[in-house]
Parts: sequence; structure tokens; C-alpha cells
Amino acid sequence: MTPIVDAERLAGELRELSRFTEVPPTDKAGETAVTRVVFGEADRLARAYVAQLAREAGMSVRQDAVGNVFFRWEGQQPELPAVATGSHIDAIPNAGMYDGTVGVLGGIAAVRALQAAGFQPRRAIEVVQFTSEEPTRFGIGCLGSRMMAGVLNIWDAVKLRDKDGIGLEEARAAAGFTGELGDVILQPGAYARFVELHIEQGPLLEASGERIGAVTAIAAPASLTITVEGEGGHAGAMLMPARHDALVAASELIQAVEAAALATGAIDTVATVGMCEVFPGAVNSVPSRVKLSLDVRDIDGPRRDGVLQAIFAVCDAVAARRGVRVTRRWINADSPAACDPEIVKAVERACVAGGISYRTMVSRAYHDSLFMARICPMGMIFIPCRGGVSHRPDEFAKAEDIGTGVRVLAQVLAELSLG
Ligand SMILES: [Zn+2]
Repeated sequence: MTPIVDAERLAGELRELSRFTEVPPTDKAGETAVTRVVFGEADRLARAYVAQLAREAGMSVRQDAVGNVFFRWEGQQPELPAVATGSHIDAIPNAGMYDGTVGVLGGIAAVRALQAAGFQPRRAIEVVQFTSEEPTRFGIGCLGSRMMAGVLNIWDAVKLRDKDGIGLEEARAAAGFTGELGDVILQPGAYARFVELHIEQGPLLEASGERIGAVTAIAAPASLTITVEGEGGHAGAMLMPARHDALVAASELIQAVEAAALATGAIDTVATVGMCEVFPGAVNSVPSRVKLSLDVRDIDGPRRDGVLQAIFAVCDAVAARRGVRVTRRWINADSPAACDPEIVKAVERACVAGGISYRTMVSRAYHDSLFMARICPMGMIFIPCRGGVSHRPDEFAKAEDIGTGVRVLAQVLAELSLG
């Protein structure tokens, strides 16, 4: 069985989907700016469009209380846990047209490709369209899959507000998603396996010329705010021996963050201070308070946590030595996830069978798959994107590469559905 992918048709559907945007599309050559925030008008129209495509492919459509949508191609044994794929269609302001959408429309295209080849699934194949993978509106990424996995509970979910003070409850109801949020959670084993097709959002595949990335692990960030409080004063009058300068203390911490990440010796450990707010922020004033952001990522959870512990030890040492107060506030600490070796092998087999070049690689960005890993064995398939660029209007993936990704996805889904 060889899936019969209509790459032209899929390219047209991706273009059509990109027209559902909150800002007028800029139509520079091949460039479309997409803004599609969850439960907004563009999101609602886009949802209707995708559901229509799924229905045309003979799939049933159901949705949950937070707006996750499930398109199902029934299998010969409907009672078995289904095999799932999928991604998201929301887009951050002024983004591109491929992030996420390739995994949703590509999932439906994979089903059509299997149907065209006369394939009959044993387990049902579901395409999941996850709500709000992007944190734009409610400040939390992977809202839909996070709730499906029970990582975000309903008590915390109902407290979420957007910048206008509209709560998740109100926003979802206005978009037509009612019902109990508690029902969103899925039990482990609800799906047999999950595999997501996504653009790489990095430069490796394009640079190497390989056409498919078989993802082996997804890195996850731990992020915190670190506040250093010292003593402010007049930059002229306050003598050096008496100072407890918060920014000088913070500069030691920033150095320590880099050193701690480098010390693991692992290329997959990364640590970043991306924000530094200095108070009061005047040329003639000794800084009294500094707020730093800290983002540490790795594919190995214990190693990442070791980096954090090393950084925290320096925080304590610097606080004692410099007479400043260092406090930490957690923002999140999701666990990294390893992909299922069986899915990785299935992706490799599909590539070999199709004469498609591939490499194994890790995902440095995180995706809904990170949370699906808590429900069932999970894998990801990457395709190249131009310059590794994403979350920008000039994000671009070739129709041919998308078609190749769908072919591999279809092959993998077919194999898993028979398993
Ligand atoms: Zn994405």
C-alpha cells in the first residue's frame, strides 16, 4: 500500500486557511501574515473550514468543552483505542501559515491519501485539532492538550483571563464550547499512539538537505522569574564599600546561568536570561532591584533540574556574599518527553520504503505532543522550513516537502492502525 498524496490540493487548502486572519494578509510574494487567536472570529471561521474538509473526507467531528476538535475515520474495530495525529491552527500575531496547520490539514490529507490507496484501518484514525497551542490569549501554551493530559486542572483553568479580563469560561462559551471542563481530561490509554507532523522551526533539515526529521525527544522549558533586591542610593554619594548593588549581583547570576548550562557538556542543554528589568533605571542611581527571566531547557529532565539547582546555589551564595535578597518565582516546569522508539522506527521505515532521506533529531520547541506523551506513546515527524524561520510572515515550507511529510505520516498511521 502506498498512500496517494495530493500535495497540490493540500497546498491550496493551507492557502485558503491562511485567509482566516485577524489582520489583512500582506500579499508580498509567497508571504502571508496570519493572526489567529483562539476563539476569535478568524479562529471560528478557520475551525468551520477545517471541519468541512474533515466531513468531506468522511470523518465524524466531535469537540470537547475547551474547543479541542476530534476528526475520526472509523476503523474496522471501533472498540480499540484509536491512533491519533494532529496539531493546532491558532497563530500568534503576525505569524506564518505553516506552524501547526501542516499537522492538522496534513492529518486530514493523510487520511485522504490512505483512502485513495484503498487502505482500511483496523484502529480508527483520529486527527486532533488542539485548542490554543499558542499562549497568546490566556498566557499559557498548549492549553487544549495540557487539559487533556490533566496537567492543567479545571480550578486553575477557570482562573485564566485574557488581557481584557475575559475569562476562559466566557470566551469558550461565546465560541460555542459548552459542557464540563472536567470532561476534557483523557485517561491514559485513551489513544493507542499519537504522532504529530510539524515544520521543524529550526534550520537543521534544510541545511543538511534531509527531507524528514524523525523526532526522538522533545525538550521542555523550566521558566522562572528571579528578583534581586539590594540597596539603592545616589550614584555619587553612596561609597563603593557600602554598596549592595542589585544589578552587579544579577550580573553574577547571568554569568552563572551560562556556566551551569555549559557545565553539562550536553549540546541539548540551553539556558537563557532573556529579560532584565532594572529599578529604578536611572544613570545616577544605584540599582536597588533587578528582575531577571530564566529559561532552562533540555531533553533530559534530571539534567535540566541539575542545571537549575546549580543556578539556585549561586543565587544563595551571591545573596549571602553581597548582602542582597534573591527570590525565585516559578512560571512553569513541564517535563521533557522521549518519543516512543516504535514510532521513531515506523517513521524511519516509512522513509526507507519511500526512498526519502531522513535524520533523527530532537525537538527544541515544544508542542502538543509533549502533553500527549502523558496519555499514550508519542512521536513527531518534522519537515524542513526555509531558513528555520517560524512565527513570522515569511515562514515557508515547500508544497513538495509538506507532501513528503504527509506521505510518511500516512504510512506511519496505517502501520500503527494495524498494530
Ligand atoms: Zn506549532
